[in-house]
Amino acid sequence: MYDVAVVGAGLIGSACAKYLRGKKLSVALVGPTEEQGALGSCYDEGRIYRIADPDKVWADLAEASIQRYKAIEDAAGEAFFEEVGCLIVGDPSLDWIHRIRRTLAAFGTEGKDFFALDGKAAIEAEFSFLRLPAAQWLGLWQPKRAGHLSPRRLAQLQAELCTRSGADVFHTQLEGVQRTPGGWSLRLADSQIEARKVLLAAGAMTSWLWERPLDVKHQTSQAILYEVSAESRHKLEKMPVMIINGPADPQERWYILPPIQYPDGRCYLKMGYDGDALNKILQTQEEVTSWLRAKEINPELLLVAGEAKSSLFPSVKFTGRESRIVCITDQTKPNEQGQRRPYVDFLHAGLGVATGGNGWAAKSSDHIGWLASEMMSSDSGWATDAETLRRFPKALFQAQYKTNSAL
Ligand SMILES: Cc1cc2nc3c(=O)[nH]c(=O)nc-3n(C[C@H](O)[C@H](O)[C@H](O)COP(=O)(O)OP(=O)(O)OC[C@H]3O[C@@H](n4cnc5c(N)ncnc54)[C@H](O)[C@@H]3O)c2cc1C
Repeated sequence: MYDVAVVGAGLIGSACAKYLRGKKLSVALVGPTEEQGALGSCYDEGRIYRIADPDKVWADLAEASIQRYKAIEDAAGEAFFEEVGCLIVGDPSLDWIHRIRRTLAAFGTEGKDFFALDGKAAIEAEFSFLRLPAAQWLGLWQPKRAGHLSPRRLAQLQAELCTRSGADVFHTQLEGVQRTPGGWSLRLADSQIEARKVLLAAGAMTSWLWERPLDVKHQTSQAILYEVSAESRHKLEKMPVMIINGPADPQERWYILPPIQYPDGRCYLKMGYDGDALNKILQTQEEVTSWLRAKEINPELLLVAGEAKSSLFPSVKFTGRESRIVCITDQTKPNEQGQRRPYVDFLHAGLGVATGGNGWAAKSSDHIGWLASEMMSSDSGWATDAETLRRFPKALFQAQYKTNSAL
């Protein structure tokens, strides 16, 4: 019998399993590989990492993780992130950009660690490849502790560190979990294992692994990759990751990553759409699975993204080769201030959950995994050090349910 079985070998699950092994517990990590058809949000090459966030809790989760990136690389012997900096551009009449400015001020000094660029001309002077639409803009530029990471590689490296430290990895699906007198029995696609405790960390699929449904909304998420021509690549050499929140629709954001090499060997600039208008909410596991497998992007989004790309980067030549990324975000219930946080909590004695990345957790997955490992291993059910209790009190991560039905 294992001390803990972690279900989901994605970003949060593999980080958690690594930390549990560090505490000398016997650990099983359960989840298929990408080649075996795993459905997760980590099977891509580019995710933005930044502490620039309107929500200080997400910024803290990111900061705690980012400071360990180098150690993960050193331990695994492979690189997974690139510090290219982050430029956030927003409409100054919206609170969003000012909240990010306050977060940045909590971590550093304006004019030294991050820079405010007031207006279109100031932003374009700093980033010559960029042309913003005519409007009021405020830019926040953070050159350090920000950039992009490969979520695919990070998940692989974390799982590799688990294996090296002696965890057993089962490359298969969990099909059901049941209470037993001594703990839990996990029915896997091709075998059965027993564990004293179980952590469900299966990303968007977590909602359907336990009988009491979590309050999680599953929203489609879409991005387009545009291949940059070889002669234009030098123009984007100093391109940071970018997030643009314009006056046209305050609910809509573009997140943009500089050209990154994809497994086909080509370099693509990624334009991701973050908004409600061109996305939809999926209700059932079948809907989520078929959306992920079909990989069909909203045609209107293709059009809008193409126009945005041409107007933001008019001097950059693209080859015309494109690729689409179709994904899911698992959105947790907003608290009274409207903030959505991950759920790191017990659903039942000995059955924990760490999920609800909300489309933002790749960068923060190491620390969310660490918090889950503390929850699963300590007598009190949470970390007890003063720093964690101050920055990450347990109440922030309490799971919310769709119904109040008792177990
Ligand atoms: C298009 C897109 C862009 C994003 N951009 C960013 C970004 O720029 N920056 C950022 O920080 N975050 C970003 N995110 C969010 C980030 O990728 C997710 O929050 C993160 O991957 C969540 O980690 P997770 O471990 O919860 O889930 P995942 O990484 O999705 O892992 C879940 C794992 O569980 C496995 N699983 C599912 N069901 C089972 C089962 N029954 N049995 C066993 N295993 C199972 C899956 O195969 C998968 O391996 C983005 C997400 C999307 C969709």
